[in-house]
Amino acid sequence: MAVPFLENWLKNKWVLHALRIAFAAVITILLAPFKLDVLEYTTYDWRMQLTPRPPVSGNVVLLSIDRETLEKLKREPEALDWAVVLQKLALGNPAQVVSFINPSQIQGSYDDLQLLADVAGRLPFQYGDDDLPKPGLGKLAQLAPPFEKLTITPAPRTVDWTLLAKDGATRRLIYSYEGQPTLHPQLAERFNGLSQDWQYSGLFDVLESKQMLVRYRNKGSYPRIKFINALEGSINPADVAGKIVLIGRDTTEISKDYATTPLDKSLVSMSVLELHANILDTLILNQAPRISPDWVKILVTFLISLLAIYVVMSVRPGKGLVVLGTAVGIYLLAAMALFATMRWVVPVAHPLVAVFICYYFVIPYRLIIENRRSWEYYQKNRLLIQVEELKSNFMRMMSHDLKTPLARIQGMTDVIRQDSLSETQGRALNSISESTEELTDFIGSILSLSRIESKELKLQLRSRDVNQLVREAIRRTEYLAKKKDIEVVDELEPLFSIKVDEDLLKTVLINLLENAIKYSNNRTRIMVTTEEVDNDLVIQVSDQGRGIPKEELAHIFDRFYRARNSRSITAGNGLGLYLAKYFVELHNGRIDVESVLDKGSTFTVRLPMNLHKDTEQFEAQGGLYV
Ligand code: ADP
Repeated sequence: MAVPFLENWLKNKWVLHALRIAFAAVITILLAPFKLDVLEYTTYDWRMQLTPRPPVSGNVVLLSIDRETLEKLKREPEALDWAVVLQKLALGNPAQVVSFINPSQIQGSYDDLQLLADVAGRLPFQYGDDDLPKPGLGKLAQLAPPFEKLTITPAPRTVDWTLLAKDGATRRLIYSYEGQPTLHPQLAERFNGLSQDWQYSGLFDVLESKQMLVRYRNKGSYPRIKFINALEGSINPADVAGKIVLIGRDTTEISKDYATTPLDKSLVSMSVLELHANILDTLILNQAPRISPDWVKILVTFLISLLAIYVVMSVRPGKGLVVLGTAVGIYLLAAMALFATMRWVVPVAHPLVAVFICYYFVIPYRLIIENRRSWEYYQKNRLLIQVEELKSNFMRMMSHDLKTPLARIQGMTDVIRQDSLSETQGRALNSISESTEELTDFIGSILSLSRIESKELKLQLRSRDVNQLVREAIRRTEYLAKKKDIEVVDELEPLFSIKVDEDLLKTVLINLLENAIKYSNNRTRIMVTTEEVDNDLVIQVSDQGRGIPKEELAHIFDRFYRARNSRSITAGNGLGLYLAKYFVELHNGRIDVESVLDKGSTFTVRLPMNLHKDTEQFEAQGGLYV
């Protein structure tokens, strides 16, 4: 009981919709807590790689201790070198000088170090410490003498070993730690005037810190002064005036000085010095990518799951894959466009995974349904075949059994005809005889039909002169024509014999002639021609009869079809042309009709002259069965 109830319930359209929505919701809810950051941030990197990079703010200049500097000095720059360079920098009036090298670690005599501390002290100089502030120490962190007066500001960097794509790339900047802004927002504020967290877009919390995603430019986007050039030559004041000068190492020696970025996954894709410039510009221009809130993820995952379920359930599998692939492609393109234009990072991983899950969960379900459906079709089909067989058997039996009594009636009418009969008796006898003939014809057609349907019909091909067959058909229908005073004229071109099934072709010709006579008025003409045209043997039967309405021409070869203008007037069963067409096609031929209402019709039979070639092959395979 329960199962049929469930089945009916499942057939209800609304129940099906509700189930699909519920399934999409379940997938969304189950998937939501999973962290798919590796996939998410891999696609995030694609978005950054495939969309244009923003221009630099123009407020940041790099002063790099590079390989050339080390090679020329043949050592690390010492306190005196630093003092000279800082002195030259001071002439250019930079807005801020930040060293990412700890002054306490610079080598030099005490006097030189003191000199460096004095020069730095006169500049807006600070040391950007790559560590987070020590707990409890806060702003009190101090450098060792003689640099104790210099400002030290935390400028930590992140590496994604445990977060996001877990590939060691640097994607985030630390905006503040335990409520204290790091070096970068402090510097940015001088250029953009933004001092409050809420004024920045793209901030998110990670433990005790507030962070953002860094918007990267290509490597080499920032103006750069080499330390050795500054030391040995001069610094153009216009290059540094009012700007932030970042000093750091780019010696391609120590991996700690380099970062991997979303733009380039190599270990040394960008110097940390340039990374700081990118962080500063992200803040100065307030252009951090904005990660969309969780509800967007849930909504998009739900919608795309729903789409996947509907596509899988209602579209053919191949087409379904194309539709889903296109939908996912469009979504990825949209995600890219949103990143490029609005800096929105919309969720990609969850929707993608949802599509896969829905696809692989729903496909088997669909297969089960389709399997069941085709099983039902199969059962129905089997039943239909059985019914059809029963019908054919019945028809055959009936026809056979009727044939004998009919022959007897026909025989008896002939016997009675020999007696002298009154006029009325004679007419009655003629009527009996005609009806018996009609019935015999009909039974003949029904028998042919049942032989076709039970696939028993076998083509008996023999070489025959078709003209002979035409003449015989004319002779067989002569008495009918005579009754209506119809003249049957033939124009038969001499022909080569071709292989045909004599009985079937004769049936076709007799049927065409009978129709021509049946549907023509008294004292008209019927023309029968044969000729050879383009390797075809063409037989035409034309009459001057009532013709066939144009809209019915296409149907007259259908089973049991009779045109409107003949249904009530003449006796017939609508099988003749169906059988004729069937028999002609068995010979690989064609039958066509042209007709003008009230003027006449022409039926054309075309038989291929080289039929025997094909048929030899058929015969070799054991004859042609239909
Ligand atoms: P039927 O037993 O009705 O003659 P057929 O299959 O032989 O069946 O023909 C189908 C229908 O095509 C006929 O009912 C008639 O309307 C039309 N038709 C066939 N031959 C002719 C013709 N020579 N002239 C006019 N109509 C014809």
